Amino acid sequence: MKPFAKRMDEIPFSMTVEIDSLAKRLSTDGRSIWNLGVGEPNFDTPVHVKEAAIRSINKGLTRYTTPSGMQTFKEAVREKLKKENNLIYAPEQIIATSGAKHAVFNAIAALIDTDDEVLIPVPYWGTYSALVKYCGGKPVFLECTKENKLRLKAEQISKAATPKTKAIILNSPCNPTGVVYSKEELESFAKVIVENDLYCISDEIYEHLIYTKEPSISIATLPDMQERTIIVNGFSKAYCMTGWRIGYLAAPNELAKGIAKVQGQTTHHPSNISQYGAIAALNGPFDSVIAMRQEFSERMHRISEIFESIPGINFLKPEGAFYLFVDVGSYYGKKTEAGTLVSNSIEFCKSLLDEQGLVLVPGISFGNDSYVRFSFTASLPTISVAVPKFKEFVERMKG
Ligand code: PLP
Repeated sequence: MKPFAKRMDEIPFSMTVEIDSLAKRLSTDGRSIWNLGVGEPNFDTPVHVKEAAIRSINKGLTRYTTPSGMQTFKEAVREKLKKENNLIYAPEQIIATSGAKHAVFNAIAALIDTDDEVLIPVPYWGTYSALVKYCGGKPVFLECTKENKLRLKAEQISKAATPKTKAIILNSPCNPTGVVYSKEELESFAKVIVENDLYCISDEIYEHLIYTKEPSISIATLPDMQERTIIVNGFSKAYCMTGWRIGYLAAPNELAKGIAKVQGQTTHHPSNISQYGAIAALNGPFDSVIAMRQEFSERMHRISEIFESIPGINFLKPEGAFYLFVDVGSYYGKKTEAGTLVSNSIEFCKSLLDEQGLVLVPGISFGNDSYVRFSFTASLPTISVAVPKFKEFVERMKG
């Protein structure tokens, strides 16, 4: 048999998805599992969103529509961008996608040629580097160090940029670090992005989940940036619509035209039903988002409190998103209570699952092997049992 396409080898399995499937399997087999791995809010989709989608089915609004998204969807996104982000877009610049992940894929596929370099701050969401490689590009990693509190510095962009550099991918609030960049930091990035003539893919999916007083701004609002920025966003996180697979991107005109063309030959368009739900989410009441943010904020403080009581653990209080990225490097080279030697983040997470039934994501899947990621999308009672299990696990390590 002839081999499959080489580009298939460039893309690894998503470790987060694999870990989540393993946790679900173990749970079905009857084991007690505490899953702090998955980045999926444990709340239901708001009722008015569900009702809007049901109404659309009952009205028979179930036919093909425009590949780049329904006009009413685009209008709702356009209004949102104007009202919440102070950005003016024409409907043609907005593309409805099957989730934000698909929007990231569309943006990379439209921008990146073979051997183009793409700057990706580390730690990163694994999809970015996987998709850059799949599209023939070369990820160039910008290490955000512990000394810099896992934050990117503008000098790193200017140092890494070469004539081959096409784009940078920014994610604020960030998965997995919880870093939210200030206006001043974004201004410093924008300056070097413009100087080096780069595109910027700005993944803003966690924009409504910020726990500090300072609101987030989109880098596209800064001078000369809108024409070189592709905003990526979606409904999975703020509106608890993970399974609906609906998101969008907003891009410069010509790029959006190209993406619409490709989408027309691939997925055609995301489900109409999900688009109707998303319109209701954008146009409807915002109280469910506020209530969820409040709940996440309480969880974040609770989980941080427990961590502060564990010796040898290093972490930064997240400013946004719903993750805690914890440095467990000081435990490498030690043995667990069951006698397993742990020397990296995969071994750490595997032993934690075997011995305590606790699911975390190894830092290596975000490009930093010294860390593990906790997701506080689980309920407070689950967190209150699960995190002390972690504490017990590390306190019993020897060596
Ligand atoms: N972008 C980031 C940074 C994420 O963490 C995730 C999901 O974990 C996504 C995008 C994917 O969102 P969606 O469910 O809309 O594809």
